[in-house]
Formats: sequence, structure tokens, C-alpha cells
Amino acid sequence: MKKNGFTTTIVHADRRAHSEFGAVHAPLHPSSEYAFADSRDLTAVFQGRPGFTYARQGTPTTAALENKITQMEEGIGTVSFATGMAALTAIFFTLLKAGDHLISSHHIFGNTNSLLATLAGLGVEVSFVDATDVANVAAALRPETRMVFTESLANPGTQIADLKAIGDWCSEHGVAYVVDGTLTTPLLCRGKDVGASLIFNSLSKHIGGHGNALGGAVTDTGLYDWSKYPNIAEPYRKGKPASWGLTQIKKKGLRDMGGTLSSDAAHRIAVGAETLALRMERICANALGLAQYLAEHARVVKVHYPGLASHPQHERAAALFQQRYGGLMGIELAADVDVFEFLNRLQVLALATHLGDNRTLVLPVAHTIYYEMGPQRRAEMGISDNFLRVSIGIEDFEDLRADFEQALT
Ligand SMILES: *Cc1c(COP(=O)(O)O)cnc(C)c1O
Repeated sequence: MKKNGFTTTIVHADRRAHSEFGAVHAPLHPSSEYAFADSRDLTAVFQGRPGFTYARQGTPTTAALENKITQMEEGIGTVSFATGMAALTAIFFTLLKAGDHLISSHHIFGNTNSLLATLAGLGVEVSFVDATDVANVAAALRPETRMVFTESLANPGTQIADLKAIGDWCSEHGVAYVVDGTLTTPLLCRGKDVGASLIFNSLSKHIGGHGNALGGAVTDTGLYDWSKYPNIAEPYRKGKPASWGLTQIKKKGLRDMGGTLSSDAAHRIAVGAETLALRMERICANALGLAQYLAEHARVVKVHYPGLASHPQHERAAALFQQRYGGLMGIELAADVDVFEFLNRLQVLALATHLGDNRTLVLPVAHTIYYEMGPQRRAEMGISDNFLRVSIGIEDFEDLRADFEQALT
């Protein structure tokens, strides 16, 4: 049978996985524990057979969502978490140990930056590099380098790492390659297409889309040979090496660390995920139109949006993301615009953090998500006090354009 498209696959995923009574949504399972008629079955699941024991390690509802994410990424398996940060914590803290070296893009989400500082405090060496050029990653290589981390499209600066070249380089050097694909989603860029070993998605953003549930997911693309990875603990070096990495992330990240996604949130995210492609098409079109409009505006100094020819990685984005550039943009207002006055005048845009929502959201970056970093690191990252992060939603384009116009005038 011909392979179905993205949305067809997702909207029929539960039914095709044989849900009870032909239900088109996998049922919501609130059970904390799962009982067995035969004691041998109970012990078999504890010893690795697929199944459910205690909800900290997942439920049929979280498994149904994981199945959808795996299909979106065309990967080999997914583990879900309570939030994106719980998933990132699981990746870094279960796969790295003191003395290991991690190379990270320096254009990353503020909370991830802070998480990596915690990791460094525990003895993992972290080098931050400009990952828009693979040469900078290559120059940071050490014998202890275990992992390279980058965002596909950086929040909030919109830099685009040299994704494919880094993937090739990691594969040549046997280094695990972790990509945070939150801003591009599997619709614009699949992890395996850029050679990622693991692709991370915050489900709280575009995939859920409705601003009503938090979640995160790690998907194994199947490209990395975990038998070459020195930090897989003995009990997880069983069966096909392709599954070792995710098994360790699941056992240590869910069972031991406990950052588990609830069935209730998983269900809401799964419903949202059905319309990901429709929402992204609208979001990308709205965002490109607004970026073009704002780039010409006299009171705007610069618009950072990969869909504009002025963006330093515009060509790369066009090639990798099939001419769709996502919903996030950075806007630097002219120095004589009072950023707080401007924000207070907005009527349609919501003044809120978060991104990838149905609603357009705006936030002054230096005073909020990058506040803790201090002025020096902000300057290094090119974040001025008049820098706004805007996450474009699905509203009617003309309402968004008019709102910017009235607030800027
Ligand atoms: C929001 C975000 C995260 C964290 O996800 P949460 O679900 O909010 O914990 C990680 N990376 C990027 C790029 C994000 O935008």
C-alpha cells in the first residue's frame, strides 16, 4: 500500500492500532497500576516485554501519543515526558556523566541554557559554539565528546544550525546528535532527514497547539548505533542496539526521575496533533506576510525571520524546510519606540510567554526569558532591550497586521 501523507497517518493512527470498539481516539486510561491474571506475565513485563505496570513508566494513552510522534518523525520509538524540559533533562542526565564533553549550539532556549549550566556543575564539560557553521562544531571535538546538541530553528533568534552537515559530521565521528525540533516540528523538518540520533519536540508548543497541555517527547530516529555509546548501563544492553538509548532514557528518565506525562495531558496533545499540518500552513503564511510587512516599517529596525531573503540562513531554511519558515520571529523596534508603550497598545496579540499556540503571543525578551542571563551574555547573543519575540498564531492575517500598525503609529 502507498504510504499515507502526514495528516492521514495521524488522524487514523489510533484506529489502526486497534483501539477498542473501533474508537477513533485511544481511550483515556487513568489507572495508576495494571494487574495481571498470570504472575508470569507480570514478571515478563518487568523484565522487558512491552506492557504496562505502573503509570510512572507510561500508560496506554501516553503510548498512543508516542506512536503518533514516532510516525510523524518516521522514527523507531518515542518516550513522552511531563514537559519539554523534563524530556531534555532526561536526555542530558541519563546519557552523559561527569568527564564527558557536550558540544552545544550557543543559540538556544534560555531554560535549556540554564539546564546545561546545572549539567556543567555536575562535571559534564559543555562547549558552546556557533552551530550555524559545522566547522565550529568540528573545532570543539575532544576525545571525550559524546554528544552534539542544537535547535533546528533557534528560539528566539531564529538562527538555523548547519543541521545536515553537523549530522554527517557526528555520524563520521560516532558522536550522538540531539536536535531540538520544537520550532520546526516534524512537518517542516524530520530529525532523521538531518541525521539526528534523537529528535526532541516540546509537545506544549505546535504539536499540542491549543495552549491547554504541557508535554515533551524524545524520538529515536534509528540512525545511531548505541552499541558504540559507552554510557549505556549493563541492564539496557539487551536486544537490538537500536533500542538501547531510548530504553535507558525511559528507565532512568521516567522510572527513576519521574517526569511522566499524565494520560489526561497526553489525550489533549494527541487531539491537537491531528491538525498540526493545517495549523502550521496557516501559521507559516501569516508569519511570512507579517515579517514582510514589518521589515518595511519605519519604526522597525530589524525583523529576524528565516523566510526573509535578509536572514543569514534563508537559503538553508528554504532547502531544509521546503519553503516554510515557522511561526517565530524576532523584532527589533526602533530605539525611540518605548517597548512597554507599544506592547500595552496591542489589542489582538496576547502579552504572554509560550509559543506555537493558536494565538499570536508577544514577549520582550531581555526583560523576561533572558533576564537571568545578564546584560553581557545577552549582548553576545545579540538581544537588545527592544527585541521582541513574536509567536504567530492562526488568526486572520489582516487582524494581526492592523494590530501592529495601530500600535506602532
Ligand atoms: C518551550 C521550549 C522547550 C521546553 O518545552 P516545555 O514543554 O515548555 O518544557 C524546549 N525547547 C524549545 C526550543 C522550546 O521552545
